[in-house]
Amino acid sequence: MLNPIDDMGRELDAKFTLEKLPDGFALTVESRGGSDHGPNRSRNKNYIDGILLHLKRMAEHDMRLDEIQVASAQALRLPESERVVWPDGYPRPLKMAGVSDFSDLRLAIGRQSAAFQNTSNSTGNNSKRMKLIVRSSETAAMTMDQLEAIFTGRSGASVWTEAPTSDEEKLRERVANARRAARRSSAKGKKPPNGQNDVKRVSSSLERFVRDPNVIAWVLEQAAGSCEACSEKAPFQREDGEPYLEVHHVRPLAEGGPDTVDNAVACCPNCHRLLHHGSGQEKLRQSLLERLGRLKDWPQKPMA
Ligand SMILES: [Zn+2]
Ligand SMILES: [Zn+2]
Repeated sequence: MLNPIDDMGRELDAKFTLEKLPDGFALTVESRGGSDHGPNRSRNKNYIDGILLHLKRMAEHDMRLDEIQVASAQALRLPESERVVWPDGYPRPLKMAGVSDFSDLRLAIGRQSAAFQNTSNSTGNNSKRMKLIVRSSETAAMTMDQLEAIFTGRSGASVWTEAPTSDEEKLRERVANARRAARRSSAKGKKPPNGQNDVKRVSSSLERFVRDPNVIAWVLEQAAGSCEACSEKAPFQREDGEPYLEVHHVRPLAEGGPDTVDNAVACCPNCHRLLHHGSGQEKLRQSLLERLGRLKDWPQKPMA
């Protein structure tokens, strides 16, 4: 049993458990019960804040809530499909990063909890034991350690909580998140991430450009072993003895540039990376256009 620690560092009285599923994970929050004044001592008195915190942390990690089950002793006697509830007015599955009002979502879940199997002789309890299920290949790839670190918010647990992804842009974003987290917690950052021994593949429908080898050959011949951007010799030779240079499209194919010699330059790997990712990429692009008479400044075209 775990208790979450809120963003102020306070441990909440709101027990929960985590369970890995083949396609994601389940987070079960224990019910609230008793009272501070009655004969039964209160338990999980921060139930509401605990759920709120879990929902927010799902959003912070771009998770998608897929299913909610009532997991009270009474509900567990029913077949699984009959334990499922869903908050009114929310799409299912629910992309948590798109939720604007977490209190409203929590209330809507509470109403479902109260309404569930409510018999007329009892008042509906809106703080039942509940199971929140998140499914995705990304969360399936997370370790128990990572899940615990996210949902307990416990310092000392791993700081490396970003999920693997095959999406380049998300990957860059998550690298930046992980670096920020590592810098925030210098001590925790010392333990390296576990990484993944079993790396998943996704088949991608990513379109690739069909490039003309003649254009590449012509541009490489023209460059004659030196980078057309910095004029330095190629940094090393290929195994066949050819100088290693890369051919870059001054107006990228993805921006509608043509695969022609008036749009292609041969450059060393450093300059090539700079042209794609460097802060001076536009400056270098302009200087190439000015220096190499064959180049044409092709306009950016929206892609179909
Ligand atoms: Zn260069
Ligand atoms: Zn390029």
